[in-house]
Amino acid sequence: MCSDAGGFHLTVSSDGATVGRFDALVELGRSHAVTTRRGFDVALAQADPGAAADALGRSLTLGGAAWLNQVHGARVIEVHSPGAAGDGDGIVTDTEAMGLVGRSADCPLVLVADKAGEAVGMFHAGWRGCAGGIAGELISRLARRFGTDASGLVACICPSAGPCCYEVGRDVYEAVLTGMGAEAARLFDRRGERLYFDMAAAIRYQLIGAGVGEENVHQGDLCTMCRNDLFPSYRLEGERAGRFGAIIAKKQPPGGQNQQAREGNN
Ligand SMILES: [Zn+2]
Repeated sequence: MCSDAGGFHLTVSSDGATVGRFDALVELGRSHAVTTRRGFDVALAQADPGAAADALGRSLTLGGAAWLNQVHGARVIEVHSPGAAGDGDGIVTDTEAMGLVGRSADCPLVLVADKAGEAVGMFHAGWRGCAGGIAGELISRLARRFGTDASGLVACICPSAGPCCYEVGRDVYEAVLTGMGAEAARLFDRRGERLYFDMAAAIRYQLIGAGVGEENVHQGDLCTMCRNDLFPSYRLEGERAGRFGAIIAKKQPPGGQNQQAREGNN
């Protein structure tokens, strides 16, 4: 797979960790990172999300970071202070230097920033989040609270279990079509008796449906199951799986993140 799809690339940060960054967010001057196993404690992120969020906030020299108790729903929470934000799968803020943290093992995390305004957001969307329409919920919350126009948003879908590997049952197919409409059938690939779901394509479809420009949706085109060496995978590791993290904040990265050396990973 191409690691540069959508401007996503792996770099080695100043503290020696291998992290993913999106060119679109770097250009916009939004501090952000997608962690990997290299330099990030994936077991801690599973066991103690607060400690992992604090570590991520510190790594970007932020004032703090807020995190969600992710429940595979479509609830979006607005935050203005660090720490536990409650049960939900979407989080938004316009507070300077406040990190928004998501954790995952296979499900897409999506980082969102307003090109024109101040707001940033993050959401976690597996098949339940797609069926529940969390992408649209987050975008309408940004519009309502911060006056954000969807056409001015950049949305970056972090690495997740890809359609190469993410097999689902008939129940998931039915639930996604119920939530998203019959058109969503094309987001599934049928191979013999088996069904595979393209979660990132589903989120892309929902973002564009909510008014985000096609050219403003980017995707970290690495599969967490193919690249289990880099990312924890619940499908492959079950309850033992750790979590990788993603963080975004309304803050200029110190010195410009794009000046760091790229790490080739193909
Ligand atoms: Zn794969």
